[in-house]
Amino acid sequence: MRALITGGAGFIGSHLSETMLAQGHDVLILDNLSTGSIDNIAHLKGRPGFEYFVDSVNNEPLLAELIDRSDVVFHFAAAVGVKLIVEQPVHTIETNVHGTEVVLKHANKKKKLVVIASTSEVYGKSDDVPFREDSDLVLGPTPKHRWAYACSKAIDEFLALAYWKERKLPVIIVRFFNTVGPRQTGQYGMVIPNFVRQALAGEPITVFGDGKQSRSFTHVSDVVGALLRLVCEPRAIGQVINIGNTQEVTIMALAERVRDLSGSKSTIKIIPYDVAYESGFEDMPRRVPDLTRVKSLIGYEPKHTLDDILTQVIDYFRRK
Ligand code: UDP
Repeated sequence: MRALITGGAGFIGSHLSETMLAQGHDVLILDNLSTGSIDNIAHLKGRPGFEYFVDSVNNEPLLAELIDRSDVVFHFAAAVGVKLIVEQPVHTIETNVHGTEVVLKHANKKKKLVVIASTSEVYGKSDDVPFREDSDLVLGPTPKHRWAYACSKAIDEFLALAYWKERKLPVIIVRFFNTVGPRQTGQYGMVIPNFVRQALAGEPITVFGDGKQSRSFTHVSDVVGALLRLVCEPRAIGQVINIGNTQEVTIMALAERVRDLSGSKSTIKIIPYDVAYESGFEDMPRRVPDLTRVKSLIGYEPKHTLDDILTQVIDYFRRK
């Protein structure tokens, strides 16, 4: 099959591209390099069946042509990272809402399958863990910019489901739960690359809030494996699907584990949310996926433990 991957030079997109090429598929990437990086795909240049275009999804003639040439579209181009979202809310909302709008519009012409990348962030402040796809979304008030991300992704989901219901455009919506692994940058605030970089540099490891908030991290190769099986599963069409890992860890325990596994002598420094992000910042206390749906669709079982992930990321940063 030939896939168009918008945001293909990003963290998840570049891993998906690599795996698809290795399996003999063709890959077209459309990425404006706003948060992606050419370094992520440099090793793919020249491979048979691989083409990339440094441009935005807002270049609609190009987008339409690339969709036409593809069997499936993975729409991963988006503003991501809590730090970026808090600092650039206009960019976040415009990119996430408009990008999905144009991708769905052009995919609809020839009814090309579209996979929409959504996020566990849409569950918001809900404490009803594990989160099921039909759980309520509990977002904070609009002056708190963090929630603009969840809201923009929720609009993407509504629009994709509307296209499926009204126009029979095949769509699959995937909600990613803290996907991590080699190549992820800490530049936009993601915790694991930040902790690993700090630990290896012997700098204080910065835990925001009281460190009691928890997350469950998923290795990017588990995510890529699930995506490739989902696009071959007709029952996935028209569904919202969690992809994650249920192994939960508090951010304080994560900081300690990164320090231990890297053999670092870094101290752990608590930083209040107001200083780390913005005044009145609201975090999610816990985030654990219910994986019943993805398991029943494709027999998904995450293969990588948190220690595997941390060991690989530490190794990646050391080599870098
Ligand atoms: N975090 C932290 N130190 C950092 C970066 C993040 O303590 O240097 C915390 C952040 O406040 C959140 C958790 O780690 O509670 C996960 O943050 P991330 O931005 O990776 O993802 P999120 O789950 O918030 O989308």
